[in-house]
Amino acid sequence: KSTVQSGAEPDGEMDELAEAVDAKVKLQRELQDERKNLPVYKFKDDLLKAIEKYQVLIIVGETGSGKTTQIPQYLHEAGYTANGKKIACTQPRRVAAMSVAARVAQELGVKLGHEVGYSIRFEDCTSDKTVIKYMTDGMLLREFLGEPDLASYSVVIVDEAHERTLSTDVLFGLVKDIARFRPDVKLLISSATLNAERFSDFFDEAPIFKIPGRRYKVDIHYTTALEADYIAAAVVTVLQLHVKQPAGDILLFLTGQEEIETVEELLKQKMRTVGSKIAELVICPIYANLPTELQAKIFEPTPEGARKVVLATNIAETSLTIDGIKYVIDPGFCKLKSYNPRTGMESLRVEPISKASADQRAGRSGRTGPGKCFRLFTEYNFRHDLDDDTVPEIQRSNLANVVLRLKALGINDLVGFDFMDPPASEALLKALEELFALGALNSRGELTKTGRRMAEFPLDPMLSKAIVASEKYGCSEEVVTIAAMLSAGNAVFYRPKDKLVLADTARQAFHAGNVGDHVALLNVYSAWRESGYSSQWCRENFVQPRTMKRARDVRDQLEALLERVEIEHCSGAGDLDGIRKAVTAGYFRNAARRQKDGSYRAVKSRQTVFVHPSSGMADVPPAWVVYHELVLTSKEYMRQVTELKPEWLLEIAPHYYQRKDIDGHQPKKTGKDKGPAARQT
Ligand code: ADP
Ligand code: MG
Repeated sequence: KSTVQSGAEPDGEMDELAEAVDAKVKLQRELQDERKNLPVYKFKDDLLKAIEKYQVLIIVGETGSGKTTQIPQYLHEAGYTANGKKIACTQPRRVAAMSVAARVAQELGVKLGHEVGYSIRFEDCTSDKTVIKYMTDGMLLREFLGEPDLASYSVVIVDEAHERTLSTDVLFGLVKDIARFRPDVKLLISSATLNAERFSDFFDEAPIFKIPGRRYKVDIHYTTALEADYIAAAVVTVLQLHVKQPAGDILLFLTGQEEIETVEELLKQKMRTVGSKIAELVICPIYANLPTELQAKIFEPTPEGARKVVLATNIAETSLTIDGIKYVIDPGFCKLKSYNPRTGMESLRVEPISKASADQRAGRSGRTGPGKCFRLFTEYNFRHDLDDDTVPEIQRSNLANVVLRLKALGINDLVGFDFMDPPASEALLKALEELFALGALNSRGELTKTGRRMAEFPLDPMLSKAIVASEKYGCSEEVVTIAAMLSAGNAVFYRPKDKLVLADTARQAFHAGNVGDHVALLNVYSAWRESGYSSQWCRENFVQPRTMKRARDVRDQLEALLERVEIEHCSGAGDLDGIRKAVTAGYFRNAARRQKDGSYRAVKSRQTVFVHPSSGMADVPPAWVVYHELVLTSKEYMRQVTELKPEWLLEIAPHYYQRKDIDGHQPKKTGKDKGPAARQT
């Protein structure tokens, strides 16, 4: 070891190399030992036998028993990839797909993207060599378009089935069908909850394979009164635990990135004020849009004498297992999609979790020893206010996207589709209406050429429609850029506290002429491209380089898809109305009109909405706008807003808007346009 410093000498280099090799061998040995310690390991042979024997198998096991990371490896070792075929393993969350793939690549000692890879929207980290492929459930759904029988896979694992995401539920119906005409394919449905009977019933009485987990006792503590501010309560609880409780890491469940960043900031402030009086607190955030480099941090061992606190979204409930957690703090909320079939509006809301979720969360503290869970709600709340289970996403979503995908797969009879829990027929009907209004379906409900083109884009139907329509307005280049920017994330600009004025001035420059948020995004991208994609330029303009790089990747892919569906590359060279019309062609349902009091009213749904303060249009609110999405915080806010001329609505969507919708007077009654007869289909 004494020669480490003299790295320049050949001897030293050799030593260093030898040490590096040693370390690697040691790490591999440790990893292999860890693998053997997972609960699933003891059942390896039985499991492989069961898979051999049955075509469809339901696998149930506690979170952290090794289902996701180990089973694909066992199948690989057992020869399921020897015929050149792949193993697919779906995950509801992108971060889980990436993180698990990274772990498995490490365990197999291969480079990520070679034998083990992952595929998530806009990011394909696989190669010709890839045999174990982790992917989001949405990506596997897309693969059906190119390969309707999934012939390149020998095994399909629908993992985290208990999550019941929209895509997973649709996959259930599709893979069940495949299993019928492909006797060679193996289908594994894997779940962390014990009531697997439902899966077994759905998959024609498929056998259930149980992996007994280890679960130590978890002490549950409740608050005695309702917490008015669960963020503040969570921060106090973290600090109290840190000061008073014996060693062991903390996992705090929050609802999203913003909350996590707020809590991170509050905890850092508090820790700064107490100085070195108490032990170090390592704060690790984890949420869907966390940059890849930082994702691995939650798995790093906690330094001696310190304590780790993981601030996580629902992702840590069952998708990711973090070792060493002894304390769970559960405020009892999560962000859930909700859908109003009457208005066709979908929004993300912070909602109370279910009892099943609360129990899963508590269980995260008792994996390696007895744990404690602090619920920031009362026992009465838990017993009386929480639902038993979360409603499957398919029953609280806008279904336009799913219906378009199924139609593109040639599945026309949606009412007859084999859903485990069928969506409300009202919601299916609304989706059909929406796709018809977008021109994706004809009056017989068949896919049109426009619809076929739209289905190729991995985007919401409204955004795909804007792209398809851009050809007509001669601005596909611009609209693809806007679509890429909208898909790259909400964090385009940042505002450092000590440079607020500078940052705001820089941001306003992109909005000059009140062009609207969509064109402003285009301006940002164009200026960045002109700078030679420079990160220096990003710093000077307070633009997030990460978001821009992602936008560029997304844009490249969308551009390739333009070619695929034969949409001409064309540039409107400054014809802003052309761009706005293309946006309106996709988003006409999101048209809103200013009211006397400065609020807006959505033209069709009659909902009261507001311009988001971050919008460039907030200070100069035009009479008519079209918005990208609604976000509910203290109010319903429209995010990404652009001015619109009301006549465009009649010109672009004559089957959706009539003159009376845009004329001066405003009819009081709502919901009269569709009689009860129309709902019964
Ligand atoms: P299950 O799918 O049954 O919930 P997993 O296969 O995800 O279980 O987890 C098995 C083990 O692998 C856990 O101990 C977990 O901490 C570890 N693990 C999973 N992903 C990673 C990762 N990215 N880095 C480090 N450890 C990981
Ligand atoms: Mg798992």
